[in-house]
Amino acid sequence: MTPGRVEQSVIGVPGRYWHRLEDGRVQCDLCPRYCKLHEGQRGLCFVRARQHDQMVLTTYGRSSGFCIDPIEKKPLNHFLPGTSVLSFGTAGCNLTCKFCQNWDISKARAFDRLQEQASPSAIAAAAVRNGCRSVAFTYNDPVIFLEYAVDVAQACRGRGIKTVAVSAGYITPEPRIEFFRHMDAANIDLKGFTDGFYKNLCTGKLAPVLETLEYLKHETNVWFEITTLLIPGENDTPQEIEAESRWVIDHLGRDVPLHFTAFHPDWKMTDRPPTPPATLITARRIAMEAGIRYVYTGNVHDPAGQTTYCHACGAALVGRDWYDLTSWNLSADCGCSACGAPCAGVFDATHGSWGRRRWSVSVHDAS
Ligand code: SF4
Repeated sequence: MTPGRVEQSVIGVPGRYWHRLEDGRVQCDLCPRYCKLHEGQRGLCFVRARQHDQMVLTTYGRSSGFCIDPIEKKPLNHFLPGTSVLSFGTAGCNLTCKFCQNWDISKARAFDRLQEQASPSAIAAAAVRNGCRSVAFTYNDPVIFLEYAVDVAQACRGRGIKTVAVSAGYITPEPRIEFFRHMDAANIDLKGFTDGFYKNLCTGKLAPVLETLEYLKHETNVWFEITTLLIPGENDTPQEIEAESRWVIDHLGRDVPLHFTAFHPDWKMTDRPPTPPATLITARRIAMEAGIRYVYTGNVHDPAGQTTYCHACGAALVGRDWYDLTSWNLSADCGCSACGAPCAGVFDATHGSWGRRRWSVSVHDAS
């Protein structure tokens, strides 16, 4: 990795999780890349840099834009279904996925992507004003803007707004504790289930992601779901899907929802076709046969594959057509209306009614 240089005009806020090396460089300890920087250099994520002999975050308070989305779009199917979530990202990423579906943000090298100045309190106020139940850190990985995400999360919790991290989970143990302490829910990308996939397509490693998943399950109360984007010829064999499913059951249990979503050709991987819907349907069947209770297809029109079913009697609990809820058969205590078996997740007595709408908003709008 050749670190980039940071322009003199870019001002950063002090970053956490770094230390000095004997050779004079500064090492960032936030993610498993452990970038080692000389003065004026940026890390691989491009947003953390060494300035005046300190590590700084150069994107604090700046966003690539705000949208109100359905929570199901994150995707989270067991966290306040039908509610709206105020979503935003910044710029940069600490993985280099060739198939990135948000590359215009994650690969941004010019800060002209970052249009809107947004203080944590302004974001929390915008969520309240727009009737959102939660704020999501998404579009690019919030791990790399930890200090900003934590401050926003604290402001949100102070206003009764929940927080959602959409992340690849590529973070080291110490910051992992701080980061997730401030989150109510997460969707973690498990991009593939081989080291080769992470190495060749993301220049990363699988193990830290699995550690994050185990940490979330066993050390926190964060509600989390997992997403695997299936790429034809790369991570879509029945054997790999079965291995992933078995790992989830053995290490996380049967109640963690798993989403298999469709790839479309993008960024540096335009030589592959989109994922055939049949591949997603097969993956869902394999994972359910392995014993995972809640498995979904995504990025395709598949109402049956997007509906939540009771693990005990098979009744449809939450019907979905894209992001619209089409039926609701959960009792007030989050059980199946037909047989009473509990459904894992975070639910209110009833569902929201945001539907599939997606609105761009400014956090500074008065209305
Ligand atoms: S967070 Fe950024 S600077 Fe720090 S180790 Fe990861 S890629 Fe490098």
